[in-house]
Amino acid sequence: MHADEIKSTIRKKASQHGFELCYVTRPAIDSKHALALQKWVEADMQGDMAWMAEASRLQRRKEPQSMLDDVNAVITVAMRYAPPEYALAQACAATDHGVITAYAHGDDYHDVMKKRLKMLAHDLDEELGKHDQRVFVDTAPVLEHALAESAGLGWQGKHTLTIHRELGSWLLLGEIFTTADIAPDEPAINHCGSCSACIDVCPTGAIVAPYVVDARLCISYLTIEYDGFIPRELRPKMGNRIYGCDDCQQICPWNGHARKAVRLDEESQLKRADLLNPRGENVLPDLARLLQLDAESFREAYRKSPIKRTKRAGLLRNVCVAMGNSANRGFIPVLLAVLDDDEALIRGHAVWALAKLAGAQERDSLLKAMLDMQASEQDDRVQDELTASINDLRMV
Ligand code: SF4
Ligand code: SF4
Repeated sequence: MHADEIKSTIRKKASQHGFELCYVTRPAIDSKHALALQKWVEADMQGDMAWMAEASRLQRRKEPQSMLDDVNAVITVAMRYAPPEYALAQACAATDHGVITAYAHGDDYHDVMKKRLKMLAHDLDEELGKHDQRVFVDTAPVLEHALAESAGLGWQGKHTLTIHRELGSWLLLGEIFTTADIAPDEPAINHCGSCSACIDVCPTGAIVAPYVVDARLCISYLTIEYDGFIPRELRPKMGNRIYGCDDCQQICPWNGHARKAVRLDEESQLKRADLLNPRGENVLPDLARLLQLDAESFREAYRKSPIKRTKRAGLLRNVCVAMGNSANRGFIPVLLAVLDDDEALIRGHAVWALAKLAGAQERDSLLKAMLDMQASEQDDRVQDELTASINDLRMV
C-alpha cells in the first residue's frame, strides 16, 4: 500500500472506533518538552505524585522508544468528550451545587478508550502486516501532549493541554506504539499567540508561567489526585469545584467554536456514547445530597465513573470545602452530621467549613460542638483543624 493510502486507512479505522483525530509521529520527544519536564520535576511541581519524579519513569517519558522494542511510529488519537453545558460564570455562582470536570460527567474514559484503542490496534494488525504494537491511555509514562504536538494533532496550550484548531481542547488522548514504518505528519503550529486568558482566570494561580502548571496549586490535582488535607490557604480559592476544574479550558477562545461543533444533532456523526455518555446527575450536583452519601451509595453512584478515583473520603472532603465557600448557612446541619464520620479527612474539612459558615447566631453552639469534639478526637490532623477553627470562631 502507498504511504498516503496507509495513513488514510488508519484514519478511517480510527474514526470508526470513535477517534475523530488521528496523526502519526516518530517515537521521539523534542528537547523543548524534555527540558520542560525536567525543570518541572526539579521544582517539585508534581506534588505527591511521586511516580512522576521516579528516575526510570522520567527517563521513559523522555525516551518513548524505550516503551517498545524497534518502535518506528506513534499513532496518536483523540476522542472528544462533551464540554460543560453551563457557562463558567454560572458554575462559579451555583453555590448550592458542585462543579465536576466535564470529562467525568459520564463513563470512565480509561475503560472506554482502552477498549476502543485495542479494537483499533486489532484492525491495524490486518492492515499493517507483521508488526508489534502497544496501546497507551494516560496511565503509562508517555508524554502524550508532546507526542500529539509533534504528530500535528494539536498544540500544547499555555494551560498545557492539547488544542486542535477546530475541535478545541475537550479531547482525551491515546497512543498506539508500533514497529510498522508509517510516515510521520507535520508538527502542529502553536496558536496561543499573546493570549493569556487561561493564566488570568486560574483561581489558584496554578499556571505559574506559560506552559507550566504547578500541580500543587491546581484544583484538578487537589480534588482528584491528592488524598490529604487540602492546604487551608487554598480552600477558599477552590470555590465549588469538587472534582477537577475546567476553568482554563472554558475560557480558552479555541473552545468557543468547539462548543458549537460538538452539538449532537441528526446530521452529526457523533453519538452520545462517543462523548462518554454524560449523566445529568453529575452536572452541577446538589452538595447536600453528596455529603449524605454513605459507603454503599457512593459505590453505587460512581461504579463506572472516574469519580470513584477519589473514594468517598476524597469526594466528601471536596464537598465540605465547597460548602465552606458557599456562604449558605443552610448547610450547617448536614455538616454537623458528618463530624462523627469514620473518615478523618471528612471530619477535618467539615470542621473548617462550619467555622467558615458560622455567623453570630450559630457561633456559640458551633463552638460548643467543636470543644466537645476536641476532647475525644484521636486524629492529630483533625485536632489541628479544630484548634484553628475554634480560634476563628472566637473571633466571629
Ligand atoms: S485546571 Fe483549574 S486550577 Fe488547574 S490550571 Fe486549569 S484553571 Fe487552574
Ligand atoms: S486560553 Fe489563550 S493562552 Fe490559554 S491555551 Fe487558550 S489560547 Fe492558549
